[in-house]
This record gives sequence, C-alpha cells and structure tokens, in this order.
Amino acid sequence: MELHSNAPTGPIETAWDRHRFEMKLVNPANKRKFTVIVVGTGLAGASAAATMGELGYNVKAFCFQDSARRAHSIAAQGGINAAKNYQGDGDSIYRLFYDTVKGGDFRSRERNVYRLAQVSVSIIDQAVAQGVPFAREYGGLLANRSFGGAQVSRTFYARGQTGQQLLLGAYQALARQVGLGQVELHERTEMLELILVDGRARGVITRNLKTGQIDTHTADAVVLATGGYGNVYFLSTNAKGSNGSAAWRAHRKGALFANPCYTQIHPTCLPVHGEGQSKLTLMSESLRNDGRVWVPKNAADVTKRPQDIPEADRDYYLERKYPAFGNLVPRDIAARNAKDVCDEGRGVGYPPEREAVYLDFADAINRLGQHTIEERYGNLFEMYERITDEDPYKTPMKIYPAVHYTMGGLWVDYNLQSNIPGLFVAGEANFSDHGANRLGASALMQGLADGYFVLPYTIGNYLARAGRDLAKTPVAEDHADARSAKAEAEGRLKAFLDNPGSHGPDHFHRRLGKLMWEYVGMARDKAGLQKAIEEIPKLREEFHAKVRVPGSGASFNQTLEKANRVADFMELGELMARDALAREESAGGHFRVEYQTEEGEARRNDDDFAHVAAWEWTGKGNTPTRHVEDLDFEYVKLSQRSYK
Ligand SMILES: Cc1cc2nc3c(=O)[nH]c(=O)nc-3n(C[C@H](O)[C@H](O)[C@H](O)COP(=O)(O)OP(=O)(O)OC[C@H]3O[C@@H](n4cnc5c(N)ncnc54)[C@H](O)[C@@H]3O)c2cc1C
Repeated sequence: MELHSNAPTGPIETAWDRHRFEMKLVNPANKRKFTVIVVGTGLAGASAAATMGELGYNVKAFCFQDSARRAHSIAAQGGINAAKNYQGDGDSIYRLFYDTVKGGDFRSRERNVYRLAQVSVSIIDQAVAQGVPFAREYGGLLANRSFGGAQVSRTFYARGQTGQQLLLGAYQALARQVGLGQVELHERTEMLELILVDGRARGVITRNLKTGQIDTHTADAVVLATGGYGNVYFLSTNAKGSNGSAAWRAHRKGALFANPCYTQIHPTCLPVHGEGQSKLTLMSESLRNDGRVWVPKNAADVTKRPQDIPEADRDYYLERKYPAFGNLVPRDIAARNAKDVCDEGRGVGYPPEREAVYLDFADAINRLGQHTIEERYGNLFEMYERITDEDPYKTPMKIYPAVHYTMGGLWVDYNLQSNIPGLFVAGEANFSDHGANRLGASALMQGLADGYFVLPYTIGNYLARAGRDLAKTPVAEDHADARSAKAEAEGRLKAFLDNPGSHGPDHFHRRLGKLMWEYVGMARDKAGLQKAIEEIPKLREEFHAKVRVPGSGASFNQTLEKANRVADFMELGELMARDALAREESAGGHFRVEYQTEEGEARRNDDDFAHVAAWEWTGKGNTPTRHVEDLDFEYVKLSQRSYK
C-alpha cells in the first residue's frame, strides 16, 4: 500500500493557504444535507463538533462520560503553546515549527507541523473571545511561561487548570449548537463499531451505557476524536476511562495504525507506591519552570532527609548535563535521566525500589516569595499535599516518570483523513504532529487546531467532492453493512456476559500493564520486545477464557465496558511491541538500549527509519503488515538533538 500525505508542495509558509484555496466548498444551503458524526467531546471533538455545527452541518456528537465537559482534556494542567511572541523573547511561527520538529526527534511531517504553528495564534484569539480566563501580566497582555524543549516562553495558561478552562470554552460553543438544534449530543454513549459502506466510513454502532441499548447512527463522514491509549499500561496519568477502543475498532476495519510504539513517559509524576494503586498523578511540567530537579550525589545519602543533605552533596543532574535548557529539557530526556540516576542507586523514593527524584522549590521560594509560587502553582501544590501528606512548600516533591501520552495513533494524511475515505481522526487519537516525542503544552494546541481550524475545511472539501457518490448511496439504519456491524458488536458483548470466568477485567489489565511497562516501557531491547510479543497473546487467550463479567448488558455495567476495552488493549499492546521491535533505532520516547550514543542519548538511524510506520490489520492471530510513509525534511536539517 502506498501512503500519500497529500500535503501541498511549494513554499511551506503559504502551503495551507494555497491548499484551502484549492479546496472545493459546500454551499450553505447544501451543508444542511450532510450529517457528520463526531466521536469524542474533548478539546478536539468538542471544537470540531461546535464548528461544524456553526457552519450548518448536522452533527451527532458522542462521549462515554456523563457530561461532554468531563472529557479527559479537562485534566490538562500546565498550558497551551502558541507563537504569539507576546514576551518579545524571540518566538515566531517558524521557531515553534522548528522546536516541534526537533522536539519530536525528526519523526513528524514538516508540513503538518508548520500548519500547527501557524494556526496556534488563532486558537488563543478564539479562546479569549470565548472568555477563557488565561493568566495575564500586570499590563493586561496574556502571560506566558516556559515548557520543555523551548528557550522562549510561549505557553498560555489558566493556573493549573488550562484544559478545564479551554474545554469549558469549547463546550459552551458546543452547547450553543445543541441549543440551536445543529448538534445532537449523546452523552454516556460509547461507540462500539465503525460502519463501512463501499469502503467509506458511513456511521457508528453505539451502546447507551445507562440502558444498554445498541443503536445505529449513519452519516456522511465520521470523526474520531477519542483520545490516546496510554492506559494500555494500566497505570498512567490518563483518566481511568480513557481507552483506545474506538481507534482499534477502526483499525480492525482497515484504518492504519501509525507509530504505536511512540509513548510519552512524563518525568514529573507521583511515584508508584504499593500494588493497589489504580492511577498515577501528574505534577505539571510547568513546575520545572521554578522547581529544581536533584538527587544525592552519593547513594549512601538516599535515606537522609533532603534538608539534611548539604548543597555540595546534591546533584542537579539536568542543570549539570544540559546547561542550555537545564530543568526544561524535553520530557523524554528528563524521564530517561531520572531513570538513570535511580538505576545508579541514587533514587529517593519508597524502598525497596526507591524510584523517585526531588523537585525542589526552596530556591524559587527564597527568590520570589511563597506568595508568587502559590499564585503560579497553588492548586498543584495542594493536590500534591493531599495525596502524599507532605507540604511541598517545606520539603521537595518526590517525582518519577509515568506513562502520560501517546504520540502514535491512527494514520492520517494532511487533511486528517485516515486511509478510509470519510474517516477523519483528530487530537491525541491521530498520530499527526508530534513525531517521537511531544513537547509540553502542544497537545491542547494540536487538539484545538484540528477541531477549530483544520477539520471544518478538510471535511467540507471531502463532502463537496464525494457528495454525489454519497447522495447516490444513502445508508439507512437497516443497511446490510450496518446490520452486520451491529451484530458484531452485540456478539462481542454477549461473549463476555456468557463467559463462565473467574476474574474481573482489571486483573488481566494490571498484568498486561506490567508486561508493557517492563518490556515496552522507558527502555526497550530486542529480547524484551520478543518476550512481550510471546507473552501478550498468551495473556490475551487467558483473558478471553477467564474474564468474568457479572450483571447484564441491559443496564449500567462498568465491568462490561472495561472488558470490552481491555480486549482491545490486549491486541494494541502486542502491536506496540511489534512496532518497537521493528524500529531499530532510538527516537524520542522510543528508547532502544541497543541504539544509544556514548553519552546515553537516543541514537536515530535516519538512513533506515526516517519514516512513519503504519500498520495494517490482517485478521485475528495474523501478523500485521507494516507500511511506510517516508518523511522529507526540506526546512529543518536532520541533526543529533542537543539540549546542551
Ligand atoms: C494529567 C494530564 C495533564 C495534561 N496537561 C496538558 C497540558 O497542560 N497541556 C497540553 O497541551 N496537554 C496536556 N495533556 C495532554 C492533553 O490533555 C490530551 O492529549 C488532550 O486533552 C487530548 O484531547 P482529545 O480531545 O484528543 O481527547 P480526550 O480529551 O481524551 O477526549 C476523548 C473523548 O472521546 C470520547 N471517547 C473515547 N472513546 C469513545 C468511544 N468509544 N465512544 C464514545 N466516546 C468516546 C471520550 O468520552 C472523550 O469525550 C495532559 C494530559 C494529562 C493526562
């Protein structure tokens, strides 16, 4: 299969403008003849659904939460990037583009990233117009802070609740369209299957999570904005409900899955403690603006209280190794370094593993005063204290890397269309812009760019061009392909309910997570990946034979929901291991121990791997096929990433 990015050629600065000009438009009277399904109401989905509704399309939006505004995007703390250059510190669209391509270790598509940097400035205007309460400077301009991988301050924020405030803005826009009758909103409704007719995406099968009713929804185009799959590891900073099932269902219907092994392990999270934990908590990267990361120089000091370790015996290892970026090196680098110092026996966490490093605010408090630190990060400090019972104003936080974000996702072209015509993918669910490592504060930017500023054009173009074909083949709910998709979904649920199993889905999910963390985690090697590829199918078989789902399908049944999602994680986990094994290089969040520089940094192999790997499902139990989209670097020179 040949993969075409469909990105416009010519000067990159005007590529998106030219592309938009060349698109076909749907006239206002015809827009109301089209129906678009948007699965997901996080920042990507809510912004897409609201904008498509505002344009006059009929939109059906779905989410599994009890309210659209409780999508996982609400958890985002630190901020959203935009190349406004309000600080006058040297930022520009080109610099944001450059930082993002470099930050992603040269494994993203230049033209997508350039467009992202361009529209970033419009996102802030739109959010401000909606009333999103961004922090401001004394003069009234919006304030900025720094995030990893950048030497300028371009991150807009609303205390530690940026995602929540942005989502309230997008949700208001969505609610307006619901009120106007343009958007039909289905909350507590989970997509179970994609409907394909004549090779085009034409609808979805859903389950009402309260009543268990299975419904068929047909449309002219389908958008998946269903978030990332980090919960394959069981423990992650993601909301417990986040899952990869919508994307996986589309994958099994032919949508290619790109770069599944690119996982982001975030350096500043609360460490694992004990066996019973069900979730890990993020401490926003924004804290590295003022917090200094250190461990004792000598392993013998790890049991001492931090205040008893004199300055001379502390190793501020990020500042020492990366003087240019210091504590604000990108996440993959900060995470790997934390692992390294802990592996050396200098970790300060709970025994016996002692997997934690200090994030210390003492200097910042002395310099700026506690009040300023409280103003900047008050809610994060409070959260830390509530969970750990330690006061971070008095004693350094203890942090350790945890799974946080997935750069991989469904393959999309420049138009954010998958290889299935009519199936568009937005936000964390697609693989598009972050390469092998996402820079902090760039996920919110990408989700909103996709939803507010890209999809409304590209879906219009698709509908304008495919409109006649679509009109010739109207798809009713009882269409044979819709009925077979429904039967498939019902059969899967019935199999779980009828299974005479012994353990709940969490039991197997936790075991999958352990395998993933051990063999497909922060550092991977050939033998470990082969082991994962051997072990995961065995666990999957055991899961299907022994999972127990009590209750019925005709009512609220969270065990049934979980079983369905864990089944998909069991397949996706194996694909991640296969992708990691096939990629014989280190790049960004994908660190293969066999491929590192003498200084322990990731060593890319541009000759053989400067490409996107996009996997095709070839049937249950079969080895998937790996396709390749070569990446061209015309503007950013391929080089060894350095933050020294
Ligand atoms: C703790 C934390 C803090 C973060 N902080 C930042 C930050 O400061 N800055 C930043 O840029 N990024 C941050 N991120 C990353 C960012 O929050 C996410 O990448 C982003 O919000 C994802 O948005 P989304 O719209 O793609 O998906 P989500 O917000 O995850 O939304 C997914 C939507 O899909 C729906 N859905 C999923 N599957 C189905 C299905 N089968 N049927 C129906 N509906 C379905 C859900 O109900 C939901 O509405 C953070 C992430 C975490 C975990």
